[in-house]
Amino acid sequence: MNRLENRFSTWRQRLNRAGITNAANEVDLLLETYCGISKTMRLTHPDLLLTEDQIGQIQRLIARREAGEPLQYLLGCWFFYGRRFWVGPGVLIPRADTEILVEQALAQLQGIPSPRVADLCAGSGCVGITVACERPDAQVFLLEVSSQAAAYCKKNKEEWAPRCQMIQADVLCTTAGLEGLDAVLANPPYIPTGDLTHLQQEVQWEPRLALDGSEDGLSFYRQIPLLWNEALKPGGLLAVEIGFDQAQAVCAIFQSCGLVQVRTVQDYGGNDRVVLGRTPGLAPGQIE
Ligand code: GLN
Repeated sequence: MNRLENRFSTWRQRLNRAGITNAANEVDLLLETYCGISKTMRLTHPDLLLTEDQIGQIQRLIARREAGEPLQYLLGCWFFYGRRFWVGPGVLIPRADTEILVEQALAQLQGIPSPRVADLCAGSGCVGITVACERPDAQVFLLEVSSQAAAYCKKNKEEWAPRCQMIQADVLCTTAGLEGLDAVLANPPYIPTGDLTHLQQEVQWEPRLALDGSEDGLSFYRQIPLLWNEALKPGGLLAVEIGFDQAQAVCAIFQSCGLVQVRTVQDYGGNDRVVLGRTPGLAPGQIE
């Protein structure tokens, strides 16, 4: 039976049985992306007949989803700050929580003309590219070490903000010659190695390189200020995303690295999510 309504309910049940809570919504997204059939279309044309090709394709996607692969990898894209970013195996999927980092950066960059901004561990590029879109006068550098992730980053920046400069580099070893930055932003890997195996099934499909923050999850927070404070202007901003229980440790590290005005910002779920600090010295034009 190739009737859309029948197929839809079979696929929804399969995903439900695999423990996926939003099964109907997920099947709709697959149908829309791969067959051009929107939810409205499905509801108004339940008798529509799917072709064998369409059925085969959706069945293969459903099987991958049942095996735990993230929906975002199957769709090939995901939304961040209202924009669509290309994603797939080898790159971290943009999280809504990371929008807090972007909001904070944008607020702190207000009043600074043509700010120079670096996004470290850029992944898909969602942080830096969003800053570039929201601040068309900003000069944004996207640094990413993995060539797989860098390929997605490049595609995304070409689509949204071609003027961003991509640099394939390990931000723990080099600042790639960048200096005079107004802001350094990072959503680095921050999960303690021992916790990686306990993460939800979908996260296991994401690149370990984007998640593993070493034994205590803090290695990037230790290294980044040591190297990158020098690349910031006096009064420049360092802002990082953190895990829900890392605020105290990261604030202490930032202070011990000489950063000032160190503070934590929570996400909408009430968890500590971002730590901000500034390099000492007045920002140019700033009056005390
Ligand atoms: N927020 C991600 C998670 O919970 C982790 C991202 C990261 O390590 N930067 O899976």
